[in-house]
Amino acid sequence: MTDRYFSDEPLEESPATLRGKEAHHLLHVMRAKVGTEIIVFDGRGGEWWAEVTKLSRTEVELALRKHRHVERELTVEFTLAVALPKGDRQRWLVEKAAELGVTRLVPLTTARSMASTAEPAAKLARYVIEASKQCGRNRLMEITKPQAWGELVSQDLGANKFVAHPGGVGVGELQRVINAATFLAIGPEGGFTDDEISLAREAGWQIVGLGTRILRIETAALALVAQLTA
Ligand code: SAM
Repeated sequence: MTDRYFSDEPLEESPATLRGKEAHHLLHVMRAKVGTEIIVFDGRGGEWWAEVTKLSRTEVELALRKHRHVERELTVEFTLAVALPKGDRQRWLVEKAAELGVTRLVPLTTARSMASTAEPAAKLARYVIEASKQCGRNRLMEITKPQAWGELVSQDLGANKFVAHPGGVGVGELQRVINAATFLAIGPEGGFTDDEISLAREAGWQIVGLGTRILRIETAALALVAQLTA
């Protein structure tokens, strides 16, 4: 497969210029030369087949040869609201959520995770870009500002709202509207409180379970994203 690169500037006219990390990788890791062919995307949809036409120490000029309107998105908008784990586990979760096609990730704060553990926005954005380059997505997963559980459940979000909690019903027994936006919430290490689960139930969220074992945040999140989007 031709290597994929991300342009943080809109690809509107040819030639385009790659700078920063992407140019560094192309120049100093891949040792690109004039004539090297790549795929480049700007996260706004579609991708370009492009050819390197000029190189400097820090920048790469690209002739944009052919645009392809190819998207590799899910058929419905999928929002994952999750009390993020820390460090490498957070990175892993963000990358895998992007690979699985999650449209939007909401860092969640709950009674047992009052402070958001989200890493700086630029770092999170980089994880999303790396995952998108790898998996072929041409639209970037959005990462919103942290949101409190009470705020999220009080919104009118439509029919497909699921909160993962041990003891909930299996995915096969859930009531789902096909082709409707879907929301999935995953709690912190200490779990959701009884009050938080009651609040969700009253607001029409369905309580979904993953069997008898208690899973880490990221395991539960990715297992459910995969099952709900299958
Ligand atoms: N002691 C906590 C409890 O009982 O809720 C465990 C929390 S678990 C480490 C973190 C989150 O992952 C939970 O809040 C829930 O959203 C999800 N989770 C983990 N195991 C689950 C399971 N078997 N069924 C449903 N959700 C699960």
